Amino acid sequence: MAYIVFDMEWNQPMCAAQPQKGKNGVKLSGEIMQIGAIKLGDNGEILGDFSLCVKPHFYKRLNKRVRELTGISKEELNAADTFPLVFAQFDAFCGEDPTLLTWGFDDIPILRQNLISWGLGTEICEKSYNLQTIFNTQTDGGKSQRSLAYALEYFDIVPTLEAHDALHDAYHTALVAKKLDLEGGIAAYGGGSSGTLWEHPLSTDSFYPYPHKRAAFADKALAEMPCPTCRKKLETSKWVTKGGNFYIALAQCAEHGEFIGRIKFSHVSDNTLSAVRNIFKGSKYATEHYDDVFEKSESRKERFKARMKEQRKMKKAKAEG
Ligand SMILES: [Zn+2]
Repeated sequence: MAYIVFDMEWNQPMCAAQPQKGKNGVKLSGEIMQIGAIKLGDNGEILGDFSLCVKPHFYKRLNKRVRELTGISKEELNAADTFPLVFAQFDAFCGEDPTLLTWGFDDIPILRQNLISWGLGTEICEKSYNLQTIFNTQTDGGKSQRSLAYALEYFDIVPTLEAHDALHDAYHTALVAKKLDLEGGIAAYGGGSSGTLWEHPLSTDSFYPYPHKRAAFADKALAEMPCPTCRKKLETSKWVTKGGNFYIALAQCAEHGEFIGRIKFSHVSDNTLSAVRNIFKGSKYATEHYDDVFEKSESRKERFKARMKEQRKMKKAKAEG
């Protein structure tokens, strides 16, 4: 078994208003255009590296910001192989039963979206971990998402390669990974504590627009979650509010186990809402958290009803003088 520290660059829709493309029921928030990876052995030794560009298929116009940031040219991309061919090579590089390590929460959902859009299996995403979480746990216990630059500085590593190249970023991430206890970090990861519940979404989808929340929950595309692995409809519990604009629900796939979904609403204008839905792996903590939120929301409703009843009583008493 090997650790694959990887990083990707992706191209995004030209602007927020452009509808997201994709296929097979997913919207692509980013089309992968470069994959870079370093293979680490059990003792942190570097066993190999991987770097390939991907020919654009869904978003053919290269976003200017992305081009400036990465320095990847249109010619370079057009000369590259399509995603299925590049992924097959990446898959072969990873070998059997790889453990994927990334810096940040974005890469895995993007990889998953790209795989699904091409009709490819997403098994490779199953064993993946965000090194930020392991870094925080094993250093100062911070909760915020630290930049890679922060982690490099923390360990006195001087970055020697330019940033925003997938292989360079993967290499620097691997240098940080070598300083961490990966085995211990992974054993304690996710599901292992309530603090890591909302890390590492398996899928992220945006929905827009709704006049109000009731209309949003009437939209099956939003309220009925698909299994992140097989895309079949999950058996979903009632959506309950955590207060404010967050809602959560538990869900289950007969084949792929338990999940927890979270919807965050945002006001686009006075009477227009947009929603972002994340699906996470379920765990004992997820279920406990849901039960807790459910109970609180029920008691809030009870208290509200009681208050209304009280007000009616008072009004009546006043009217009767
Ligand atoms: Zn499933």
